Amino acid sequence: MKYFIGNWKMFGVPNSIYILKKINTFCSKDKNRKKYRVIITPPFTLIEKFAKIFKDKKISIGSQNCYHKDPFSSNTSAVSPYMIKSVGAKYTLIGHSDNRNEGDNDHLLKSKVQFALKNKLKVIFCIGENKVEKKNKKTIVVLKKQLQNVLEKKFNKKDIIIAYEPIWSIGTGKLPTSLELKKTAIQIKKILKNIFKRKSPAVLYGGSVDEKSIKIFKEINEIDGFLIGGASKSSKKFIDIIKNYYR
Ligand code: PEP
Repeated sequence: MKYFIGNWKMFGVPNSIYILKKINTFCSKDKNRKKYRVIITPPFTLIEKFAKIFKDKKISIGSQNCYHKDPFSSNTSAVSPYMIKSVGAKYTLIGHSDNRNEGDNDHLLKSKVQFALKNKLKVIFCIGENKVEKKNKKTIVVLKKQLQNVLEKKFNKKDIIIAYEPIWSIGTGKLPTSLELKKTAIQIKKILKNIFKRKSPAVLYGGSVDEKSIKIFKEINEIDGFLIGGASKSSKKFIDIIKNYYR
């Protein structure tokens, strides 16, 4: 099973539902539809509406983040996993580099993962090295620390998806070579097999994936899908990514 996950970031109003309707229409007729799952993470404001409309459809809805306390607290602007689950989301991103940048550390991320899993939200856990770390050949050391500091054997690996997103690639048009990515994916799965004892959760790639760049990732069997930012805001681009992947 492959995953195509669209991260809308700070984008969308209730009318933006038309984008998802087009994607859903494509997916329901696609001859490859059984081979993949589509998940969209809109902003908090749209989760309830979208989750209701796409209940039992081809698209699942997730949040882009969640708070590290549960179910309620006195923290202004915080939204807990319990609250997210209660409006119909099935997934949540945790550890996106945008949020790590704003102060999410490993300790906090671990609480987020624990509360999300407790509320039966599947976790899309984002990891990735920055430009300097890559230049200094620290990629695997960084990824290993990000994974080992947060994930535990007792978490059910079926409820966790890893999104490898090199920070230098997000929104920049810069891509790892397929050989580079294949090697990194193999290393990530090795680390995960160590944590989870034997089997690894799914590992996705994210960073400047669009309808053109998707072609270079087709041959990398170790990659179980994609986390797509910018290109997920256009139904045409998102559909073309899926089409070109299976072409
Ligand atoms: C992201 O923000 O998670 C992302 C992958 O963005 P983009 O596809 O625009 O690089």
